[in-house]
Amino acid sequence: MRASQFFIATLKEAPSDAEIVSHKLMLRAGLIRRLAGGIYTWMPMGLRVLRKVENIVREEMDRAGAIELLMPAVQPFELWEESGRGPKYGPELLRFKDRHQRDFVIGPTHEEVITDVVRRDVKSYRQLPRHFYQIQTKFRDEIRPRFGVMRGREFLMKDGYSFHTSYADLEREYRNMYDTYSRIFTRLGLKFRAVAADTGAIGGTGSHEFHVLADSGEDAIAFCPASDYAANVELAEAVTPVKVMRSGIPGDGAGGTATMEKKATPGKTRCEDVAAFLGLPLTQTVKAIAVMAEKESGSEFVLLLLRGDHDLNEIKAQKVVGEFRFARDEEIVEALRCKAGYIGAVGFKGRVVADRSVAVMSDMVCGANEEGFHLTGVNFGRDLPQPATVADIRNVVEGDPSPDGNGTLELCRGIEVGHIFQLRTKYAEALKCTFLDEQGKDQVMEMGCYGIGVSRIVGAAIEQGHDERGIIFPAGIAPFAVAIVPMNYAKSEAVRAAAGALHAELLAAGIDAILDDRDERPGSMFADWELIGIPHRVVVGERGLKEGKLEYKGRSDAEATMVAIGEMAAFLK
Ligand code: ATP
Ligand code: MG
Ligand code: MG
Ligand code: MG
Repeated sequence: MRASQFFIATLKEAPSDAEIVSHKLMLRAGLIRRLAGGIYTWMPMGLRVLRKVENIVREEMDRAGAIELLMPAVQPFELWEESGRGPKYGPELLRFKDRHQRDFVIGPTHEEVITDVVRRDVKSYRQLPRHFYQIQTKFRDEIRPRFGVMRGREFLMKDGYSFHTSYADLEREYRNMYDTYSRIFTRLGLKFRAVAADTGAIGGTGSHEFHVLADSGEDAIAFCPASDYAANVELAEAVTPVKVMRSGIPGDGAGGTATMEKKATPGKTRCEDVAAFLGLPLTQTVKAIAVMAEKESGSEFVLLLLRGDHDLNEIKAQKVVGEFRFARDEEIVEALRCKAGYIGAVGFKGRVVADRSVAVMSDMVCGANEEGFHLTGVNFGRDLPQPATVADIRNVVEGDPSPDGNGTLELCRGIEVGHIFQLRTKYAEALKCTFLDEQGKDQVMEMGCYGIGVSRIVGAAIEQGHDERGIIFPAGIAPFAVAIVPMNYAKSEAVRAAAGALHAELLAAGIDAILDDRDERPGSMFADWELIGIPHRVVVGERGLKEGKLEYKGRSDAEATMVAIGEMAAFLK
């Protein structure tokens, strides 16, 4: 590539609405241009970075055995009604009608669409497992789009979805993706950390986020340097009530969660179902109960603590002594799963809307009485994953003991660049995505889903790599690996010839080099390449050529060094 034939659009000043360094630098370096709030054009220089990120992600996903496809951005809203997610998703979901007044959405994620594909085309256990992925444009009508491409409304995501005949096989793929993500972020040259996470609006059970560590990150992470413990503090906030319940329970860790296959009927209490599932008589006592309460703005999850022991059938609001609201309104079973290490939690799926003022018993009972509440019919590891260890770290300060007992906690901030989930049968059940097993029996598929914020990664990489002169890209994702900057290009025949020869030689050696033939002032050319974050710069000047040398400077080097012309390609390799 020659600079005169490319498009370099650097700016002296960043527009004033850019708040953080990566956003400012992406605008100044001409990587992106704003069209509307949270909506950006990837300029030619920026697109090269985006494509490099995308290709690393693609190579590693292919290597891990996932299969690429491409789903539409536009999705019929019907599918979202069928999965039950449509009404819950909220205003982030951009909806519109076509000319026939049919409802559509612009996909913020693709669980429904892929499940529809699989339920039509995959019929037998012989076709499983399968993992499909795409690298595709998403739209989320974020309430506060900001930080440029880091929280855009339109953005590029790699989203993968895996389908399995058993939970054990889903767990295998989940670990495969955990390792694959670690490889991807390592190859991208990022400092990152995997943390236990909340499942958010996507739902499901087990979940990890991958965070690029940066002070400007929107998420707070607590981690223990001496062990593997790391959690998103957002998740920890959601489990605060556990601590309260924990105090009365001997034999920590005995609990777990179980889900009932049966769906609860809205509007009806299902005490009998819960009792039957627990294998307990209806007179068995409980200390805590969770209800789903409907609010005007949607539903919210409330965990109620009860004073004394109560007949399952007699729980009334006046016995409530503690109330803890959860930020998320997703299924209670999932919200409580992570707390199962502390309480014996048994939930059953489906949503029973209760009037909060009456606090009618509904979706879930957390069995946790003073004597310890032993659950029957639940086998952890068989029916359900072992509960994760999560503790109340909402108010932790540096140096507090780690919940896993292995040392002290440190806090840092992170940018969520990847998220993996065990969805289990949430979508497959709703959309009737089944397969015939070896016995010819119809079974619901187990599902996992795995996202990477491809466009967010570009911003995150710049948050980690920059100085006062501009971007410092990791070598693997810089728009060009080398900038060849000739002095006096128009006038000096010798410089033109040497620069052209070096350019050809580097390209032949597979080194992605750009020749700056713009013949501008050296200072302004140097400033451009430093701002854009090109890792290597080679200056071709008459004086050096006389000694058979070229001047090399790495983006973070303090001084330039002279390298013999014939050795430059090998030096850069
Ligand atoms: P966040 O917590 O930042 O809102 P999320 O948890 O809603 O992200 P997921 O549903 O887990 O996002 O989507 C997978 C990945 O897509 C995220 O890990 C993130 O890297 C990326 N992503 C999500 N929202 C945006 C956005 N508005 N702009 C750019 N990338 C995004
Ligand atoms: Mg979000
Ligand atoms: Mg998140
Ligand atoms: Mg997420």
